[in-house]
Amino acid sequence: MTPLHTQEKEQFRKLFQQERVENFEDRFKVLEAFLSMEKHVTVDELAGFLGQRGVKLSPEFVRDTLKMLSRLGFARQSRFDNGVVRYEHHHLGDHHDHMICTKCGRIIEFKEERLEKYQIQIAATHGFHMLRHKMEIYGICADCLKERSRQMPLTMAKAGERLVIREISGGASVRMRLLAMGLRQGDRIEIITNDGQGQLAVAVDLKRYALGRGLAQKIVVESSER
Ligand SMILES: [Zn+2]
Ligand SMILES: [Zn+2]
Ligand SMILES: [Zn+2]
Repeated sequence: MTPLHTQEKEQFRKLFQQERVENFEDRFKVLEAFLSMEKHVTVDELAGFLGQRGVKLSPEFVRDTLKMLSRLGFARQSRFDNGVVRYEHHHLGDHHDHMICTKCGRIIEFKEERLEKYQIQIAATHGFHMLRHKMEIYGICADCLKERSRQMPLTMAKAGERLVIREISGGASVRMRLLAMGLRQGDRIEIITNDGQGQLAVAVDLKRYALGRGLAQKIVVESSER
């Protein structure tokens, strides 16, 4: 436990006893577990972690406590990419931004003073006084990039990826169909949306195309950013 965390626990004690919060001891256990854990945890992860340590508390109680902690400035919540709510420590005066891997879900924290200042300046050019911001960069982490095979069916591509059409399988009829739409081998293609089901939206030369999954499965693509 770092001195910073000891300090947080003392402040928590003061604030919560002052507010006469019910179930103080259990809430304190939630705080202790939260402070000892890796960052960006979900309610279920924290409840599970407590359970492993023999502290049986319902997820509802844990969620409620985390919300309380957020309200009082001990935790901060984020919903990356509209996913499940995650909580991280909120140390006063500490600010960082996030990169989120859309493949494995890893969350990388970063801090860049130049970027921080630049954002304030940009806001100011619009006559806007910036109070706070959230910067979330979505992409593919270094490990996932290494692991990913060079070629894959278009259905596996993620939104935002820029790819090249390497091959069209399924015979001449498929190639003709795609050609009629305006897509051919060698085209550089950008994925606009691909949520794992239904149609994919892609763009080639600023033109949008909607592709059914069956058809997209027959298009072999390769990253164009290597
Ligand atoms: Zn920032
Ligand atoms: Zn990853
Ligand atoms: Zn963070």
